[in-house]
Amino acid sequence: MPTDPYHWVGDNVSCILEQPVYLGHTVNFKTHRQSYKIKKTVDNPKEQWKIFPNTHEPIVDEDTFNRVQELRKNKRRPTRTGKTNMFSGIVRCADCREKMYYCTTNNFEKRQDHFVCSASRTKGKEVCGTHFIRAIILEQGVLHHIQAVMWLVANYEEKFRAALGAMQKSEMKKALSSKKKQVNQIERRIDELDRLFKKVYEDYANEKLSEARYEILSGDYETEQAELRERLETLTAEIEQQEEQAEDIDKFIAKVKKYLEMTELTPVILNDLVKAVYVHKPKKVDGRRVVDIDVSYDFVGILPKSLFEDIKNEPME
Ligand SMILES: [Zn+2]
Repeated sequence: MPTDPYHWVGDNVSCILEQPVYLGHTVNFKTHRQSYKIKKTVDNPKEQWKIFPNTHEPIVDEDTFNRVQELRKNKRRPTRTGKTNMFSGIVRCADCREKMYYCTTNNFEKRQDHFVCSASRTKGKEVCGTHFIRAIILEQGVLHHIQAVMWLVANYEEKFRAALGAMQKSEMKKALSSKKKQVNQIERRIDELDRLFKKVYEDYANEKLSEARYEILSGDYETEQAELRERLETLTAEIEQQEEQAEDIDKFIAKVKKYLEMTELTPVILNDLVKAVYVHKPKKVDGRRVVDIDVSYDFVGILPKSLFEDIKNEPME
């Protein structure tokens, strides 16, 4: 036993966070021996691991596991001062979609800490210069937004579910019909290529076409068909995924309910509920500087403002 079993170094923890074993899967072939004469084992790349799903009771559920993998892709660098902010990596510019930098110095008072669009730093202020928000304002804004969602879920859960469901359905319908159209077009083109292929083959057989010409044409058709088949597969997978979204609303509501008693925003709550916060250009309202933010939630994305108004305006039953 180590002297202090709770003193875990970062590497251990990150290693644990990436283990599918905790999902109840068994992982084999993680290492191999280069030769039976050498005892030393060599790590295999992750792609060569064999995962046998659900061989034992899971410790973490699949959603939590996937969420952690996402968060880990988004590692935060501490600033030179050593200060960090829970919004680093989460907050993005609404216009250029780049991440916003956390700016702080030891001379700043806390209320002066702020985020700026990273494009303004790397590509110049002309590219995207006006996106700026103080950390304190951002935190208050997101807290209020989450509290508004919680209020809706706590008081109008059924309406919230129905409204969100209806909204997603109509958006999904649009997205789905455009994707299904693309699928049809691709399938038609694949059939057409089959016919073209048959035609050049016959022409070649009847000596109407030279061998060199035949090879070029048939090669082109084959390449195009292979590309189309791949695109078709992606589209079909996307369509299937979208059709499963109803479940996501329930998952989101369950998450929100865990935090109904929350009074302040913590990194745990933020990371669990929120995928990204988009900061818009500031505007002047009655002489005051106002910055709009969009909060994109895990599972459901950005909830439109109308959703809040529609539910609140409906008479209580
Ligand atoms: Zn920007």
